[in-house]
Amino acid sequence: MRESIPLTWRRIPERYRLLGTQCITCNTNFFPKRNICPKCRRKGKIQEKQYAGKGKVYSFTEIYAAPAGFEDQVPYVLAIIELDEGPKLTAQIVDAHIKDVAIGSRVEKVFRVIQRDDPEGLIHYGFKFKLAK
Ligand SMILES: [Zn+2]
Repeated sequence: MRESIPLTWRRIPERYRLLGTQCITCNTNFFPKRNICPKCRRKGKIQEKQYAGKGKVYSFTEIYAAPAGFEDQVPYVLAIIELDEGPKLTAQIVDAHIKDVAIGSRVEKVFRVIQRDDPEGLIHYGFKFKLAK
C-alpha cells in the first residue's frame, strides 16, 4: 500500500535522518519512534535518538516481484538490518548482488531515491543501505 502525500511529508525527518527514540530509563532504542516504552510504561522517559546508520544484516532475501512503484528496481536485495544501537528495520541493500550479502555483513546508510513513479510526480528519497567496506 502506498502512503498518502501528507503522511510521506510528516515522516520526512525519520526518512532522511534515521531519527528514532530512546527510553533513557532502561536504555532501549526504538525505530520507528515510539512514545511509550513497552517495558517501563509510565516510568519510561522517552527522548529522540539519532541513529548513526551503521549495522549488520540480520536476514535478507531477493525480491523479484516488486510492489507498485518499485518495478524498475528488481531484482533487489531486501534485508532486515540490525542497527548498532539495537533496533531492526527493513531496507533495501543497493549496489550488491545477493551472493555478496551474508548474515552479519556490515552495512551503512546511503541516501537514495525510494520511489520514482508517484502519481503526483514526486520523487521520494530516503535511506537504503550498502555493504560497508
Ligand atoms: Zn524503558
